Amino acid sequence: MSPGRRRGTLRDMAGITGPSKTTGRAARDGGAALELLWAERTHRGLVRTSNQDAVLARPGLFIVADGMGGHEAGDLASTFVVERLGTLLDGRAATRTMVLDAVRDANAGLVALGASRGGSMGTTLCGLVALPTADPGRAKLVVFNVGDSRAYRLRDGSLVQLTRDHSVVQELIDQGAITEAEAEGHPERHVITRSLGADEMLEIDWWLVEPRLGDRFLVASDGLTRSVERSRLEEALIGEADRERAADRLLEDALEAGGRDNISIIVVDVVLRAEPSQEAPIVDPLDDDTEPRPAGASG
Ligand code: MG
Repeated sequence: MSPGRRRGTLRDMAGITGPSKTTGRAARDGGAALELLWAERTHRGLVRTSNQDAVLARPGLFIVADGMGGHEAGDLASTFVVERLGTLLDGRAATRTMVLDAVRDANAGLVALGASRGGSMGTTLCGLVALPTADPGRAKLVVFNVGDSRAYRLRDGSLVQLTRDHSVVQELIDQGAITEAEAEGHPERHVITRSLGADEMLEIDWWLVEPRLGDRFLVASDGLTRSVERSRLEEALIGEADRERAADRLLEDALEAGGRDNISIIVVDVVLRAEPSQEAPIVDPLDDDTEPRPAGASG
């Protein structure tokens, strides 16, 4: 499947027929309803012959997957996983448990698909899902990660990486064996230590995040984050108030840096809902999460 065709399939599946800018209520803030607005981009880059990244962005659900396993297998793996998650989490109130179960289900499906094809295939997965909340003043997002795609939050002019890479170089950095700067040129910089599709047993890192009005989130594949310095990511996200322009600028920065990998970007803004809502408050009695889990937790 060509990248263009693949994107078309995903957009059709997501019910997105117009421009990518679509709205959906996510949560409320201090009695005023918040919503998440987004801009998404995915690009083959300038060197690779196919786009093995897959992106899914729809109200309350923002996912990037970066496939591996060779040309066709990588494309198939990332597409399979985002489509499966899109189906499992489509339009239903999601709890943190439901989100993690959906990721495990997608992983099991990918393991089976790989086995049926007689070869290994895998993908990273990183995303944000808005959770319904019983408290209208507090919104909640679950952030999850497997691999080296990343989620960041820009708040009060400061960009913070929410996820932690599952990679050889991250482990070396944690051990103090190399610096972040040395990681850039490390021969094993592409080697990840966790992925979907490798094993039925999957460890997923997740965090609960309370988004605030004015927050901006970024979910991206390593085609952006490995080629564009963090300070430039921050500059683009701060400098471009318009999220479509911010997404374009990030993509341009990655292409200018050589575009050696596929590049996927979702910029998500937390804004005030334009019109008053007539909908009943969203209540989720199933979700018992009340405290954010410590950074680095996994389940
Ligand atoms: Mg990549």
